[in-house]
Amino acid sequence: MKPSYRHFDVTVASIRPLSRHFTRVTFTGPDLHEWGWFGADQRIKVVLPGDIWRTYTIRAARPELREVDVDFVSHGLTGPATRWLAAAAVGDALGLIGPDATSGAEPDGYVWRPGDARTLLLAADETAVPAVAVILEGLPADATGHVFLEVPTSGDALPLHAPDGVKINWLPREELAYGEALVPAVTAWIDAWAAEWAPVEPIPSATPAPLPAAAIDEASGADAENTEYEILWEVPEQAASADLYAWLAGEAGAITGLRRHLVRERGVDRKQVAFMGYWKLGRSEN
Ligand SMILES: Cc1cc2nc3c(=O)[nH]c(=O)nc-3n(C[C@H](O)[C@H](O)[C@H](O)COP(=O)(O)OP(=O)(O)OC[C@H]3O[C@@H](n4cnc5c(N)ncnc54)[C@H](O)[C@@H]3O)c2cc1C
Repeated sequence: MKPSYRHFDVTVASIRPLSRHFTRVTFTGPDLHEWGWFGADQRIKVVLPGDIWRTYTIRAARPELREVDVDFVSHGLTGPATRWLAAAAVGDALGLIGPDATSGAEPDGYVWRPGDARTLLLAADETAVPAVAVILEGLPADATGHVFLEVPTSGDALPLHAPDGVKINWLPREELAYGEALVPAVTAWIDAWAAEWAPVEPIPSATPAPLPAAAIDEASGADAENTEYEILWEVPEQAASADLYAWLAGEAGAITGLRRHLVRERGVDRKQVAFMGYWKLGRSEN
């Protein structure tokens, strides 16, 4: 069987600012009718000039038009991806490593597996807003849950389509440090949830448990290189049959803090939670 992911040559078809920090880039390419997007938080690699790759999320795909959208976050000019974005122009060539619809393989390269959980918790910073947006668009109409999204400023709250039972909380960071808006809001929600549904005596956090070595989901060949990138990546293969399914993605330090609270202090089963450090402060992806 062919690998589930492969390289696609693409060029920039359009660049559209969505807010001060989000920019939608639409790519087009001769083979994109063979792009195999199925939704959720499906990740890809953007291969920049110089063969530098970065991990992004498919925000939308229209294989019939040979188009793929990626929403990029600008974070200054500190990394190759944001430097590329700042200078990007229609017609620029680059590569995408993405799902191959002709491979015949099962869909992979995604984490979202809520099983039959009745309550959904999604917590993310701006880098995972594109993934959350797609996940929300794919939820059944009767889904219920809470979404916490930390973004740089209030102007970065994007229009999202979610079922009525899913409450979206935008958390502008403004002058705060990364995670300082997200972590307290999610912690408070978890505490309220645990008090009602899973009464576990909080365990003092004076001696935090050592974190496991980065567990990299190698389901997709696209992420094989990530083994050198020591960030928290702990995702259940199949969600436990439980009331709660939580999907947490963002800056690695913030997600690590949330993991400690959920698992150690609140006793939440790790099979109910996907913990994903999407990036790490002070560290390049590769
Ligand atoms: C599964 C997955 C899906 C992702 N999806 C998206 C997506 O759809 N859109 C998106 O914009 N990002 C997404 N990301 C995050 C993206 O891969 C990183 O932000 C990436 O490191 C940016 O590359 P860079 O070349 O700009 O910076 P790097 O060279 O990787 O890093 C350079 C410096 O910038 C810092 N840095 C990196 N990212 C940020 C940031 N967002 N804010 C502040 N400082 C930062 C690093 O800590 C480092 O100090 C995703 C990551 C993963 C793992």
